[in-house]
Amino acid sequence: MSYLVLARKWRPQTFGDVIGQSHVTRTLQNALKNDCLAHALLFSGPRGVGKTSVARILAKAVNCESGPAPDPCNKCGVCREITAGSSIDVQEIDGASNRGIDEIRQLKENIQFLPTRCRHRIYIIDEVHMLTKEAFNALLKTLEEPPSHVYFIFATTEPEKIPATIHSRCQHYEFRRLGTAELADHLGKIVQTEGMGLQQDAMLLLAREAEGSVRDSLSLLDQVAAYGATSLKEVCEVLGVVGTQVLEELAVAILESDVAKALRLIDDVYSFGGNIQKFTTDLVFFFRNLVVLKNLGPERAVTLMDLSREDVDEFSSVISKYTAHSFFQVLDALMKGQEAIYRSTTPKLSLEMLVIRLCSMKEVVGIDDLLG
Ligand SMILES: [Zn+2]
Repeated sequence: MSYLVLARKWRPQTFGDVIGQSHVTRTLQNALKNDCLAHALLFSGPRGVGKTSVARILAKAVNCESGPAPDPCNKCGVCREITAGSSIDVQEIDGASNRGIDEIRQLKENIQFLPTRCRHRIYIIDEVHMLTKEAFNALLKTLEEPPSHVYFIFATTEPEKIPATIHSRCQHYEFRRLGTAELADHLGKIVQTEGMGLQQDAMLLLAREAEGSVRDSLSLLDQVAAYGATSLKEVCEVLGVVGTQVLEELAVAILESDVAKALRLIDDVYSFGGNIQKFTTDLVFFFRNLVVLKNLGPERAVTLMDLSREDVDEFSSVISKYTAHSFFQVLDALMKGQEAIYRSTTPKLSLEMLVIRLCSMKEVVGIDDLLG
């Protein structure tokens, strides 16, 4: 049996299966219920958050033999064909490779014909912002008066590149990036169902690395599963990511002005094959978390940080020794130095210099502390 990647295996098949986009799915389901679905829809949002999945579910809901219904049955011939991608009435077009006027002219000729098996012909154009100006112009007339048997669903990661004339003729749905905790919960369900035995803190790391993309998080989970990693340490190794433990040690070394320890930690990350630029970004976010924690306290900060409750408690005791100003000072200098490290041909050296500078910084006492 061939291995089915998790992103395909867990692709949502009903609106209820879609995570984190209820503001979109609820509106679409209401439109289906009230029979007032627009004939041109624009789905925008980051990659891997469910735009094409929702487009396919919608195509099924509109055409389902026992529909149109707020959710497809996923059992009838039409639903099954659409799921398999073999329906001739539901077409998925990659806007990046079919971007010219000729392709759009061809499409316009095709939409004159009534659907063969379904009630409606549906055109899903992915990465629609890649179409040429001429192609968009050719499409405009059709969008002004779309035939009643046709629906267009445009998906894009860059809605600002779509001409205003096209945009204004579409109903716009904005998909959002998922939160780390939300994504980690979703991974937790999958890990349990698949019997993977991945630890909670490791899932949180995967969710954080995926930056809000469900698809990316599942690809990472595939990678981790192939290796058989279950602990946070193993997952860090597989993904070449530095764990929060190292970040915490480096943060303390900087705050304590311990140059030798700071340099040794950077050297460890480097020899371990870690990407210095990414490590610097992680360090910036780590200090950002410390600033948030220092200012809001653990109870209020925990939902605003991509860290586990245990980490938050551990850091709370670390940060109590330093003033809020010292964190601001380091974060500010790190953010200024970050760009240079990204441009540098010797990023390790640049990070070392930056960290030495941070260590030699004299703490500026805040006015509140002074008054206190
Ligand atoms: Zn059906």
